[in-house]
This record gives sequence, C-alpha cells and structure tokens, in this order.
Amino acid sequence: MSSLGKGLTAASLATNLQSRGFKVKLRKLDPYLNIDPGTMNPNQHGEVFVTNDGAETDLDLGHYERFTGVFATKHDNITAGSVYQNVIKNERKGKYLGNTVQVIPHVTDEIKFRIFNDLKKIDFLIVEVGGTVGDIESLPFLESIRQLRNEMSKNQTIFIHLTLVPYLNAADELKTKPTQHSVKELRGIGIQPDLLICRCERKITETDKEKMALFCNINSKNIIQALDVTNIYELPLVLNKENLDERVLYNLNIKKYKKANLKKWREISNLQKNPKNSVNIGIIGKYIELKDAYKSLSEALYHSGIHNSTEINIIWINAEKSINVKSSLKNLNGILVPGGFGKRGTLGKISSIKFARENNIPFLGICFGMQLAVIEYAQNVINIKNASSSEFKINNAENIIGLMTEWIKDGKNVKRTINTDYGGSMRLGSYECILQNKSLISKIYNKNIIEERHRHRYEMNIKYESLFKENGMIISGKSPDGMLPEIVELPGHKWYLGVQFHPELSSQPLKPHPIFNSFINASLNNKKHAKSK
Ligand code: GLN
Repeated sequence: MSSLGKGLTAASLATNLQSRGFKVKLRKLDPYLNIDPGTMNPNQHGEVFVTNDGAETDLDLGHYERFTGVFATKHDNITAGSVYQNVIKNERKGKYLGNTVQVIPHVTDEIKFRIFNDLKKIDFLIVEVGGTVGDIESLPFLESIRQLRNEMSKNQTIFIHLTLVPYLNAADELKTKPTQHSVKELRGIGIQPDLLICRCERKITETDKEKMALFCNINSKNIIQALDVTNIYELPLVLNKENLDERVLYNLNIKKYKKANLKKWREISNLQKNPKNSVNIGIIGKYIELKDAYKSLSEALYHSGIHNSTEINIIWINAEKSINVKSSLKNLNGILVPGGFGKRGTLGKISSIKFARENNIPFLGICFGMQLAVIEYAQNVINIKNASSSEFKINNAENIIGLMTEWIKDGKNVKRTINTDYGGSMRLGSYECILQNKSLISKIYNKNIIEERHRHRYEMNIKYESLFKENGMIISGKSPDGMLPEIVELPGHKWYLGVQFHPELSSQPLKPHPIFNSFINASLNNKKHAKSK
C-alpha cells in the first residue's frame, strides 16, 4: 500500500549496490491513467518532480536522484496513461497489422519495451511498481514483469515484495497475516517473490520470519526486516545491516562484489543526529496538509541543515488562513515562499513576503514565491497598487507577471498560447541562466553561468527591469538571451532572493544546494543576531 516506503527502499537498495561499485538505474511504473502527474493536485499525489530533460514525474524519482546522484530522465517514469496513449497511437497508425489490440500482449509489450528503453550501460535496473497488489490498475504492470522473468535468462531478475507487518498493541504482537495474504495474491498472478522486505515498527523475531518463510514459500534468509527509521538517510545503513544488498546479490548468483562502502552515509546520519544549532524556517504554502507536497523542498532544507550542523524546524504556515504576521512569523529565523499555482492563498504569501522584507528576515522565494515577491515589491514599494499576474485573471490589473508565449529551448523557439493544452506545456526542465557579477547569487554559486530546473507558465516581464532597479530591486539572473528574468534580489536587505527556478529539485544529501546552504547560514546568523540584541 502507499506510504510504506517503496520508493525509499528502492533508492536505498540502489545506493547500497552503488556503494559496492555497481552502476545502477531506477525506474518507476505508475498504474494511474494520467499521462504524468503534472496536472494532479499536490495535496492528493504529492510533489511533481521535474527531471533535467523536462519531464513531470512521480516524487519517488526525487528520492532516486537524492540517494544515488544519478539524474532521472523522462524515460524513468512509466505511467499507464502514457503506455495506453502510445498503444492507441500505434493502433491508429496501423502498426498492429490488423490484429485485435489487447492488454496482453500489446499493452504489456509496450510496458516491457519502456522498461528497457534508452538505458545506458548499467549493472542493475531497479524497477519500482507503484500501487498495491490486487489493484485492477496495476495488473498489466505485474503481468509485464511476470513475463519478463520468463523471457530473461535465469538469475537475471529477482522480485522483491515490500509488505507491512503491523504491530497490534492490544495483543502485543506482530501480525504476519497481511504479508501472507499479499504474497498469496501475488502468486495468484504468477509472481513468487524472491525477497520480502517487511516494514515494521517493532523488531521481527526469528519465529515470525520462519512463519512467513513457510507460508510465503521463501527462505527465511530472504526475509528482510525494515524497521522504522527516524531519518530517511539512515535507511541504506539499516538495510545493509539487515543484509538486503547481500541477499540480492546472492539471489542473482553474483559472487564477485566489493564490501559496501557507506562511510559518507554514516557521516551525514551522525551529523543529522547531533546538530550544533537549530533554526526555525517558516514555509508559507497552500498544500501543507500532505508533507509529500513539498518533499524536495523539505529535503533540500534538511540537506543544508546537515551541511551547517543545524537542526531545521520547519514551521508550516497555511497561506489560505488569514496570517497575523506579527504573531505567526515572529519566531521565524528564515521565511520561504515555495512554488504554487492560482490566486487562492496569495494574500497570506504576499503579507509574509512584506514582513520578511521590512524586518530584514532572510527570505527565499521559489518560482511562484519569486513572482509574488515581485508583485509585493511593485504594490508596496513602487506603488503600483494593481500590480498582479495574468495567472489571476483580474480585470484592469497591471500584470508584471505574464503568460510566457515564447522562449528558447535547445536553440529552438518554443511557442505557446492561451489555448495550448494544460498538461506538459510549461517551461519545463533545465535551462541556463546568466548571473550578474558581484550579486548575492553569483557569490552563492561562485560562478556566472548556472543551470537549474524550471516548471512555470508565467514570468516577470523584462520591460519592468529599469523601474525595479531604480526602486531598489535588481534582476541578478537572466536567460542567456536576456529576455527572461530568473532571479531578483534586494541589495539593501540582509538576505533576500527570489528565483524563478526550483533549486530544491537538484539538492542531494551528499551535495547540498548552495542556495539552501546560504539561506540556512543567513537564517542562523539572523537567529544569533536576534539573540544578542
Ligand atoms: N503558477 C506559477 C506559474 O505557472 C508558478 C509555478 C510554480 O511555482 N511552479 O508560472
């Protein structure tokens, strides 16, 4: 079932194999009928992770990148929607030569093709199958991997099944029955798992393992305990200790391998457990009911917390409720307004940005957060009272932020209009940005050309550049053609940055992002300063 941690488990296994010198790649199969999660509500599905090559993908791909450092591509998230779309397209083109088009073999062939499509040289491909065993939607995916096992040579594939072993408080007992039933269900569709990973909050005893081994037809050595961890970066260490990677290698009959080298993971895990300082970072957002909606963002903050030996307390502030800035924001050492869509909740965000600006509190605005910072500045400093974004469709507004109709991708012009399809039509993926010399941002990166990932439909209109500059807000980063403002800052402020891109998407625990490192450092200094006053 969802939230068991399939993504993190897959990513941790990949990390462990990588630490033994193997090359790994992860892919995710998603059984829903959307083409991609780009149009889904983050409160339902969690964050949309954007790859360098501009795909809107499942947030598990973010875990894969953060753990392995291997960049995901548009081929790494295979949704039922995109599979069916292609099958139907092929049917219309007459590619099936008059055959009746069916789930087996046409849909399953398409899935199998995609599992191996565009793979560079690797030792291991770890394919995470989304959904739950028994769901109608996941059947074609499970059938595809069942077929693959027969088509490939012996010892080339293994099936790993992640199950929940719940603890019943009243009985003071771990229950293995759900696992037994889940495996039974899987076997009913022709898949016998080779390994079981059992998610549990209490230790699994040998007796429990023996029981599962017997009923699930699995050697008890291949039953791996996955005890809850306090921090996700401990997971590779914990699973390695439980012999997960060793059992995977054994089952694949791989006899030559190195010892796992997880030194760096041990280091960050220790740093995270023993911080020297702490800061309160307020995130003013609209999708705060589901923490997964801002997954990369909170992870990026934690990475920079580790880097700065600082514990990060994230204070989630609902932008849709009226925010009394003085009482709600006063204990914050840094304020962050993340990406977002639509007019709802903008007032709360704008008043928080104003509070950060006027009180010299470190402020980071990301994507929508940057656009709102520009609007706030226009309304309250430049005195353009009706300053807005065309996203909000307000009559007689002065839209400083407008719909992007034309931009350059890989040397080619991309055009869009108001009638372009909603899904997949934003400015997506990695783009170059030129930084202004001596700005805060160029100091942060210590270079002048950067590449960051984007996901937006609107942009600040460059024609306002000189007006903003005269009034104290500079555009310190632009697209190479100088047409798209990418970064704004206030040279008179302690630490104030708005970025049109999403730096959180490329932060990794072993390679924290310089913007977040600097933001946390500034928030820490702000805290010390406030204390000494
Ligand atoms: N809604 C804004 C846009 O489309 C910002 C998007 C975002 O924050 N990712 O431009």
